[in-house]
Amino acid sequence: MRKNKNNEVSFDENVNYDELKQHEYDDTKGYIFYTCPLCGGEYTATFITEKNGQTMCIDCWNKTADDDDDKESLSVWDAADIYLSKGFDEDYRFGYSHEELMKALGE
Ligand SMILES: [Zn+2]
Repeated sequence: MRKNKNNEVSFDENVNYDELKQHEYDDTKGYIFYTCPLCGGEYTATFITEKNGQTMCIDCWNKTADDDDDKESLSVWDAADIYLSKGFDEDYRFGYSHEELMKALGE
């Protein structure tokens, strides 16, 4: 298989590109397209990245970043600090129970 590492393409040093399905098109000679293992889309090396050891395209990476924001919105310890500072106002429990927050404060 012919390989042509084009200088315009930036490679992520954490990504093992050889693991990915590769495809070259006649009308874009010199560019190798890698198949994203998550969405199956084809991207040049510039748009392939990785997160926690999982190779993925930029689009998938953006989606995981969004998911993380939702999950890690507020830790129980941060919530407990705010709950305490608000005088244990139940409007500031952030989805945690009073017991959970009091336990977090005690740790
Ligand atoms: Zn993808």
